[in-house]
Amino acid sequence: MRHPYLKEEHEIFRRSLSKFLNKECSPHYERWEKERIIPRSFWRKMGKEGFLCPDVEEAFGGSSADWGFSVVINEELEKVGSSLIGISLHSDIVVPYITAYGSEEQKRRWLPKCVTGEWITSIAMTEPGAGSDLASIETTARLEGDHYVLNGQKTFITNGILADLVIVACKTNPFVEQKHKGISLLVVERDIPGFSRGRKLNKVGLHAQDTAELIFEDCIVPKENLLGDEGKGFSYMMEKLQQERLIVAIAAQVSAEKMLQLTIDYVKSRKAFGKSISQFQNTQFKLVEMATDIEMGRSFLDQLIGEHIEGRDIVTKVSMAKWKLTEMARNVAVICMQLHGGYGYMEEYEIARRYRDIPVASIYAGTNEIMKSIIAKNLGL
Ligand SMILES: Cc1cc2nc3c(=O)[nH]c(=O)nc-3n(C[C@H](O)[C@H](O)[C@H](O)COP(=O)(O)OP(=O)(O)OC[C@H]3O[C@@H](n4cnc5c(N)ncnc54)[C@H](O)[C@@H]3O)c2cc1C
Repeated sequence: MRHPYLKEEHEIFRRSLSKFLNKECSPHYERWEKERIIPRSFWRKMGKEGFLCPDVEEAFGGSSADWGFSVVINEELEKVGSSLIGISLHSDIVVPYITAYGSEEQKRRWLPKCVTGEWITSIAMTEPGAGSDLASIETTARLEGDHYVLNGQKTFITNGILADLVIVACKTNPFVEQKHKGISLLVVERDIPGFSRGRKLNKVGLHAQDTAELIFEDCIVPKENLLGDEGKGFSYMMEKLQQERLIVAIAAQVSAEKMLQLTIDYVKSRKAFGKSISQFQNTQFKLVEMATDIEMGRSFLDQLIGEHIEGRDIVTKVSMAKWKLTEMARNVAVICMQLHGGYGYMEEYEIARRYRDIPVASIYAGTNEIMKSIIAKNLGL
């Protein structure tokens, strides 16, 4: 059985979200890809309907919903297109830092507007000189009286252009011997002096997802914007990266399922040598192989989501799912494009967009090589 952790109420929610997306998102998606941004108005509509941050407590404007609702939202967004991952990042990756480590005052100040979509969020860890090796970041924050002075540069930041709140990983103690122990998280608000945006980056895929450089030059961040405790930023990120990796695995799985369906539909309708190309044994075997990988991926993923909802430790398994499912989806994209022939290389066919969108899933949220290093360590190697 698929989605064993979902109940009737989740499926009712799915139907209403799908109807909403059919009206408010799908007809505009191609234009947003061309404009290379998802308009704020769409974020606000998502918020108004309760489709952002559903697990935030009611006291802060959310619905106190279980994480099954987030799974439904992530799946439905990915069915439309991978560029919507920035919305998942907001609801299920960035905002959870505030709910987990924020003070009551910070939650009151930030969460309600995150839920309505008035405020869009980002997390800025990666720098031009440090991605996988996160402990080597060079952005610093020096405490001076009642504020920090933040200096540094971040790159590849999802929602970077639109973001109203950015959680910035920085060194508050650059002298500590174990580098990761000097890292803290500061929340930088849109209009803080010294904060500016750099280039909006031109990507191979995910065209509507805004990805940017962020610059902090003697940026004055009030002391009250420190998230959690000073020096604990690295462990907070390691904890929250689990859910981030699960989100990426869900997106990869759904994308693979979508590509398979698109291709099954295509091969049944396309004719060559007097018959439908679905009649060729090669076509059938390729589709069967992909369907088998996808079915196995779904079983593993569903089990993992269930364990995550139960609050179990999924570090090793989520690292497995992240590398395996993103690699599986990338292979599916290559084969599905081949089965579309020349039409698969044309932009008007969805497979072309999915082919360029999927490779980044092996890179962000920790590269697949880093996933394997984590698994190797946890195997005692
Ligand atoms: C579209 C997009 C959106 C992103 N969004 C965000 C965001 O919102 N916030 C954010 O902070 N970051 C974001 N990132 C950054 C992303 O997380 C990093 O690109 C990623 O972690 C890899 O870092 P890097 O690019 O510096 O590559 P590097 O760390 O330089 O790695 C280059 C290659 O070396 C390999 N490698 C590195 N170390 C090892 C090792 N120990 N063992 C084996 N191989 C290794 C890597 O696997 C990779 O293949 C985004 C990136 C992209 C492309």
